[in-house]
Amino acid sequence: MDNNTKVDSVLSEEKSPMMFDERMAKTQMWHFLILTCLPIPLTVAAFVWFPPTLTNILEFLVMWFLTLVGVICGSHRYLSHRSFEPVKSLKQSLVALACMGGQGPPVVWAAFHRRHHQFTDKDGDPHTPNQHNSKYNGVFHAAFGWMKRHEYPNPMVYVPDLLRDEEIGAVNKHYYKWIALAMILPALVEFAVTQKPIGLLTGFLWGWGVRSFVLSSTIGYINSLNHLIGTKTFQTRDNSRNHWWMTIITLGESFHNNHHAFPRSAHVGLYARNLDIGYGLIKLWQWMGLASNVQVPTPQRVESRKISKEES
Ligand SMILES: [Zn+2]
Ligand SMILES: [Zn+2]
Repeated sequence: MDNNTKVDSVLSEEKSPMMFDERMAKTQMWHFLILTCLPIPLTVAAFVWFPPTLTNILEFLVMWFLTLVGVICGSHRYLSHRSFEPVKSLKQSLVALACMGGQGPPVVWAAFHRRHHQFTDKDGDPHTPNQHNSKYNGVFHAAFGWMKRHEYPNPMVYVPDLLRDEEIGAVNKHYYKWIALAMILPALVEFAVTQKPIGLLTGFLWGWGVRSFVLSSTIGYINSLNHLIGTKTFQTRDNSRNHWWMTIITLGESFHNNHHAFPRSAHVGLYARNLDIGYGLIKLWQWMGLASNVQVPTPQRVESRKISKEES
């Protein structure tokens, strides 16, 4: 039985949309402790005891940008929303970079994200800040707390298209190896440059610890504050908001109300005046022949969803 037949036969069975067992809870706790919590003390240690060298700063910037592109353009705009179609080499590179980001296996990330769009800001949304007794608790849950213990969306229900794609699966299944590479690579680069054993530690601290903390904080920011405060350009049935001031550090994702209004659009900014580096990269890949089928709504459709001055 080939992979597609196997997936199709499982897909034809009755499936529950969410799943959870104690084995998953264990993996989840380790993932939370090592990939979400550990970077916090490592970041403090880096700032207090190990001032960065120029190479440390470059390692941080390069690893931060690459893993951010992996999560934003790979896990989000491609895997979750299919807003463009990359060629095999770009597709597998994006999945590998998203793995190195340590935000969960990209296919699982996409399953969570599709559920977020299905139940945005309502019961069932895995990380809404709007279902809590205070805004403070809501922000804590959406940015951090939800990752500690939660049910998993069943990939057979949420991402059957991704499970059928063997090119994605071939990279996604090595999630933990990619994370190990993301930890080791900056340490080895710093060691090679300084020729001192301490370089292994500072490379790891700045290239993995600080980088992981900044990336997780960026994603946590989008999950929390982009669903609480800011402006609303489009009518949506949720509390998604736009923050133009975070557009550079989020590669355009902080136009989050635009995104919830047009989730399939590769251009989250929607307007030329809205800086959207993620879309700039997708257009560049399209121009280079690495991406096709780039989804963007017509200006007429965009205008038809806009909130009029009287409504806002
Ligand atoms: Zn959202
Ligand atoms: Zn989305």
